[in-house]
Amino acid sequence: MRRELTDPTFHRKPLPAMEAQALILSHLIKMKCESVPLDQAVGRYLAEDLLAPHDLPHFARSGMDGYAVRSADLAGARTGMPIEFEVIEDIPCGAVPQKKIGSGQTARIMTGAMLPECADTVVMLEMVEVVGDRIRIIRELPLGRNVTEPGFEVRTEEKLLNQGTRIGPGEIALLATFGFAIVPVFTRPVVAVISTGDELLEVDAHLVPGKIRNSNRAMLQAQIELAGATALMMEPVGDILSSLVSAIDDAFLKADVVITTGGVSVGDRDVLVDWFGQWDGKMLFNKLKMRPGSPTTVGVKNHQMLFALSGNPGACFVGFELFVSPALRAMMGAVDRRFEDMEAVLTESFDKPNAFERYVRGCVSWNAGRLEARLAGVEQSSIVRTIAQANALLVIPAGVGLQAGQSIRFIPLRDWKGWA
Ligand code: AMP
Ligand code: MG
Repeated sequence: MRRELTDPTFHRKPLPAMEAQALILSHLIKMKCESVPLDQAVGRYLAEDLLAPHDLPHFARSGMDGYAVRSADLAGARTGMPIEFEVIEDIPCGAVPQKKIGSGQTARIMTGAMLPECADTVVMLEMVEVVGDRIRIIRELPLGRNVTEPGFEVRTEEKLLNQGTRIGPGEIALLATFGFAIVPVFTRPVVAVISTGDELLEVDAHLVPGKIRNSNRAMLQAQIELAGATALMMEPVGDILSSLVSAIDDAFLKADVVITTGGVSVGDRDVLVDWFGQWDGKMLFNKLKMRPGSPTTVGVKNHQMLFALSGNPGACFVGFELFVSPALRAMMGAVDRRFEDMEAVLTESFDKPNAFERYVRGCVSWNAGRLEARLAGVEQSSIVRTIAQANALLVIPAGVGLQAGQSIRFIPLRDWKGWA
């Protein structure tokens, strides 16, 4: 179909990107909960707040290899005036002490071992002179030195982890410490990917004139998996409305979220536009006040969401990071913290003002104690290479150019702890 200027697709009302993101989040519901073994929990999102089932540590424990004593017994010890103790027990890690420490008595104790009753302080091995089955100490130590009290780290019932926390190695260590062999997590949203375009070839195909390999499909699969969701790769479709209709119908039967790429602009063969025209779901927006990816269109029906991303690789990538990724994380109880204000100093000028806000692929790095930002390369939505080079999206406000030395807001892209 040849589109004329009277076609409604030329007259869309654009929405600012962050308003679009908020609108998407307000239409989502959380996934169901499931239980998984701890060794399969990495990368998943906690479905409940978890409280500590016991104190950590749950017994008074030695922080050193040494001798457990009563601190009061050390009173007066100094060089030339050692105090002698009788060694009454040997306490390795994992053992339960059998004897109480009386005045003038001590027990040899290893790091992490349980403190014997009535002892309150541990003297390091290095500070002790051993004489047969007795020891001599020439220093006073304050009460409690080298002893970790029960609950020092975490108290029973204290909040350990919040719902929506993404489970990484640190969380795994905490869960293991507290005996969570089974972990309540949100089920992973299934995300179907349908790429459109008569020009698309499989990745392993030989190049032929006029055609290109389908990079968006593979890229989106990687993005979905890194976000902690499950990718369902549908067969790519050509620019024919009937094939698209059946592909999307099929995808909605199998997936929580559907992503299409391409066909969403004002071109003659942009079939997604025609598909939205005949859909009975609710279109949230079909134009964004941003570059790249201004024709990005999102619709929702029965809490299933369709993200129609632009086909240009750069726009497709940015569309996923700005809209799909936060949506998937929200469905698993998490807040995508990457959109909180982060700033760096721009080291080159970006002085081509645009009526729309821009999300430019950039590189942010530390230099001499400050965060600096530069463009990853030529900024065009068709460029693939800068997707690999970028570690951030630099936000250029609408209508202004920026000079070197000015502050710029950015959104980190890589898995920086706390943001991903
Ligand atoms: P479209 O959004 O369909 O108008 O496509 C915009 C541009 O992106 C065109 O140059 C397409 O060839 C290209 N493109 C579309 N889909 C893909 C894809 N899956 N992988 C790589 N490039 C694509
Ligand atoms: Mg196309």
